[in-house]
Amino acid sequence: MRVEGVSIIKKLTSIFIILAMITSLCACSDLHTDNDNNIHEQSSLGISYGETSGLLDDNPTTTDTSSSNHEPTQGTSQAPTQPPTQSATKAPVQEATKQSNETSTLIPTLPAVTVTSADVATFSGISYYKPDNIVNYVAYKQLNPNLSKEDVVTHVNIGLHTPFYSKVNTISNPNDLLVLCNKYNSLDANYVPADLVTMDRNYASSGQKMRKEAAEAFYKLSADAKDAGYTIMAVSTYRSYSYQGKLYNTYVARDGQTKADTYSARAGTSEHQTGLAVDVTAGEIAEYNKFGNTASYQWAKDNIHNYGFIIRYPEGKTPITGYKSEPWHFRYVGIETAKAVYESGLTYDEYYVRYLAK
Ligand SMILES: [Zn+2]
Repeated sequence: MRVEGVSIIKKLTSIFIILAMITSLCACSDLHTDNDNNIHEQSSLGISYGETSGLLDDNPTTTDTSSSNHEPTQGTSQAPTQPPTQSATKAPVQEATKQSNETSTLIPTLPAVTVTSADVATFSGISYYKPDNIVNYVAYKQLNPNLSKEDVVTHVNIGLHTPFYSKVNTISNPNDLLVLCNKYNSLDANYVPADLVTMDRNYASSGQKMRKEAAEAFYKLSADAKDAGYTIMAVSTYRSYSYQGKLYNTYVARDGQTKADTYSARAGTSEHQTGLAVDVTAGEIAEYNKFGNTASYQWAKDNIHNYGFIIRYPEGKTPITGYKSEPWHFRYVGIETAKAVYESGLTYDEYYVRYLAK
């Protein structure tokens, strides 16, 4: 009996080891498939990101679970109950559309309202008030009674009273260093910044390009970070319209459109096409989507405005930006504006419609 028992245990152990090997092979296979897809995607587009083949997008890879740590929490006074925000854990349900069955909540439509003179008096004192939007201000306020009148006007001016991508304007000032590029404002398919420069390898992985002023500001940022004991490297910068479109489609195929929209921009709406955005890592072989957990980020979040950069997609602002928190995505806007945005505590979308929109 004892011998038989040992024999059975040996057999079970063998089976277990074989099963474990098979499982481990499957996991490797999945990883390789994913990375190979990315590499294939790159090479088929003829764009080299040098050593950064796995660092292509503002995209949590399938192996990454850290992004869930940055999932914005709802329930702040700023979070509208309307469009972008349906739940804290689900992707913003922007599209009551056909393309995805993942949508669990329909977007509430704005209530029909009658505008009174008291309503006009309420909103018209705000410096960024737009008379043409008064009906939407009143309706949006009714749907979001806890929002301040300033936030109501700000949100409607951004376009948040309508679903993301539902009304997309073509950007008329693409060369402006202050350009607002988001899910309501898209760059032309043919837009390529005229002053792109290939970045110095001391500060960026091979082949990265940014607009000249942004690149030089980044060098200073990176050098000063290094002097302070931190590493901040540029790993993904300018992307063409067509490249972004193919990247986005790859993620839609993998994760579905609703989820892809929380981390990847549709062609024309990526800040990377402006040549003013940079995804960074805390070292050449570090993963960009772990940057938020590094000491380099702790330095960055309270210093990059001194070099003209802002954290474009801050934590807890998904209802406004339409994107999960991206600690690694910096946007160049110039020192004066970057300092003002930092001091304001606003997202760039909010800051722009309040203080920069013409
Ligand atoms: Zn980015």
